Amino acid sequence: MPDGEDVRWLRMAIEISWRCPPSPSAFSVGAVIVDRSVGATADASARVLATGHSRELDPHDHAEEVALRRLARLARPDPPDRSDGPDWADWADRADRALPSGPPASASSLTLYSSLEPCSARASRPRTCTELIIEAGIRRVVFAWREPEVFVDCEGAEIMRRVGLDVVEVPGLAAAVRAVNAHLLT
Ligand SMILES: [Zn+2]
Repeated sequence: MPDGEDVRWLRMAIEISWRCPPSPSAFSVGAVIVDRSVGATADASARVLATGHSRELDPHDHAEEVALRRLARLARPDPPDRSDGPDWADWADRADRALPSGPPASASSLTLYSSLEPCSARASRPRTCTELIIEAGIRRVVFAWREPEVFVDCEGAEIMRRVGLDVVEVPGLAAAVRAVNAHLLT
């Protein structure tokens, strides 16, 4: 079940998704990676480790992918140039172990918020966001809108649950995500 903090961070992810350049062939998505283990008295913004939105740096970018790349960069300031090559995959794979001590102690204490269910199939790049999330060591994912079958049949939530991640849906915020993507739903 989502709690008040989940709703708050998910709203931030949806707010970020409005920054996406609209595409006729892809959803507009926002993502936020939060360290919820930071104490409640701490500056709330300190909990946000990374954000991302669709097509943020490249037309093929997915929101979760951009946020995970930024998370990995916290630990490795000199990333490979290419974001989708084998070097980056290896680099992202090590990100949780490479994170500095202290909050965030490891990726397993983090929650990834995405306005849309993370993809399990995509045309633009070989690695899906579901794979990238699992490989980064994130253990908890909260999203608002279960991906409708507009482009592909998405099984991201099922796959993550199958491998033991805590996956929380907040359908009460799905309408806000549909509003961002209204141009795809007519
Ligand atoms: Zn994706």
